[in-house]
Amino acid sequence: MSTCEKCWADAYRLELAGKGNQPRIYERLLRERKDHPCTPEEQAGPDAQICLNCKRKTLHQITGQCMNPECKKESSQSDRFKHEPNAEPRRKQAKHDADHHLL
Ligand SMILES: [Zn+2]
Ligand SMILES: [Zn+2]
Repeated sequence: MSTCEKCWADAYRLELAGKGNQPRIYERLLRERKDHPCTPEEQAGPDAQICLNCKRKTLHQITGQCMNPECKKESSQSDRFKHEPNAEPRRKQAKHDADHHLL
C-alpha cells in the first residue's frame, strides 16, 4: 500500500525535532491514528492528482494509486473478472486451429 504522505511528512518533522528516525516514527503514527485515519486526500499528499474515477484529489503523489477506499472497489477488480473467462476458450481455439494446419 502507498505511504500516507501526511503521516510521512509529520514523521519527517518529528525526526528534525530529534524524536527518532523517520520510518520508526511513521510506523508509530500509523498505529496511533488507526482509529482516526487521515483522509484519502491527506494520504495522497499535497501534490496529488485528481482521480478520474471518483473525481477526488486522491491519486497518490508518488505511486499514482487512488487512496479513496470506495473508489478501488468499483474499478479494477470487476474488470479483471470480466476479461478472464472469455480469454481462455479463445486461446484454446487458436491452438486447435494451429494443430489442424499441421495435419
Ligand atoms: Zn496519515
Ligand atoms: Zn479514485
